[in-house]
Amino acid sequence: MPLMEPYRIKVVEPIPILTRAEREAAMARAGYNPFNLRAEEITIDLLSDSGTGALSAAQQSAGMLGDESYAGARSFFRFREVVEDLTGYPSILPVHQGRAAERILFGAVLKPGQVSLSNTHFDTTRANVVLSGATAVDLPCAEAADLETPAPFKGDIDLGALAAHLDGDTPVGQVVMTITNNGGGGQPVSMANIAAAAELCRAAGVPFFLDAARFAENAWLVIQREPGWAGKTPREVARAAFDLADGAVASLKKDAIAHMGGFIALRDPDLAAQCELVLIATEGFRTYGGLSGRDLEMLAQGMREVVEPEYLAAREAATRHLGECVKAAGVSIVEPAGLHALYLNAGKLLPHLEPKHFPGHALATELYLAGGIRCAELGSLYLGEEDADGNLVTPAPHELVRLAIPRRVYTQSHLEYVAEVLAEIAKDPGSVPGYRVVEAPPLLRHFNCVVEPVKP
Ligand SMILES: *Cc1c(COP(=O)(O)O)cnc(C)c1O
Repeated sequence: MPLMEPYRIKVVEPIPILTRAEREAAMARAGYNPFNLRAEEITIDLLSDSGTGALSAAQQSAGMLGDESYAGARSFFRFREVVEDLTGYPSILPVHQGRAAERILFGAVLKPGQVSLSNTHFDTTRANVVLSGATAVDLPCAEAADLETPAPFKGDIDLGALAAHLDGDTPVGQVVMTITNNGGGGQPVSMANIAAAAELCRAAGVPFFLDAARFAENAWLVIQREPGWAGKTPREVARAAFDLADGAVASLKKDAIAHMGGFIALRDPDLAAQCELVLIATEGFRTYGGLSGRDLEMLAQGMREVVEPEYLAAREAATRHLGECVKAAGVSIVEPAGLHALYLNAGKLLPHLEPKHFPGHALATELYLAGGIRCAELGSLYLGEEDADGNLVTPAPHELVRLAIPRRVYTQSHLEYVAEVLAEIAKDPGSVPGYRVVEAPPLLRHFNCVVEPVKP
């Protein structure tokens, strides 16, 4: 099938197109930090795929049926039915977004001094583990370290390391499998790996949860890549993954193609009751959990749409097509391309920049200056460690830029535009300047730091 979006456009939003001079002024005012730009200064926004998807006509009309009753709203029961059907878990709690689910569940499960193990904890997941007094340890598989080898399941957990930790001296409070592995390059996790990890956890008596923000995208890549799963539907594969776990947290800002939402879904009624108490105290009553009836309806409909094979096939084809155009332009990517994002190897494109001059940030900034494209680095600015004087002492393992692809928002020609802008940059990479940090807060520095170009 040729690449084609399986929907047509009924409502449009104009895209701002600025001159280079206007973009330069905007970036300087923003302290060269893309998080400080205004949306009206951006032509193509690839900062995140979270809450940025386009609603369908069916979701819009479902929203009109939203029941805004304080308790027992029809919309909750529709939401619950869809999540129950998808996951098979008997206890379903809505929350306003993924991190609320993490805070509530981990607060109930983890004890100070314990460790939480994962293929890779997403950054809010890690923060919520730490807030509950536990330590987060990532155990990515060996293949994940090699950016360019197209191994099919680089999101897997390292089973040997998992077994060793479960056998070790530090008590393990939980194991969280992130599907797909967002922190680990958006790579999928195989069903064989989920099953083996679940088995190790069962034998050790440790709860095993999914962080299921991209449950449908993971299922789709399992169908494409894992022997024995071809011919299954995305819904069947997602269900098989949920069947292997004791429960799940999910940010529904991703694979429910809606702007806000999340859930905690659990098998154990006692744990669910504990979570429900905190939910009511901090999010909202158990039948809305911080969401409106309208949101619950749109989420329920989005979770039905996201498992449609035509939608997932087109999403895979679009990201792969962007990856092929980018490679043709001479820019290396993390192989193989996943679904929700394409990761560019900025370290390789800009070898004249040392890690302390943040090649990832330099490429992300240049994409904005040259073409109005907003994206974020995943390199030493975000993940590196510095000493007290702000000197980079431990660079990130890789200097990457993430091009996140919002769901159903951009067409093939938008993505080709992105590749063309990159191709222009790749013609003269030596002219891209590095950056240095001028001001940085002590926490979550990439959101708030101010940087400036280093004069060559
Ligand atoms: C986005 C995300 C979260 C956090 O969800 P929010 O809805 O942003 O709070 C947690 N885990 C993963 C894997 C995510 O992608």
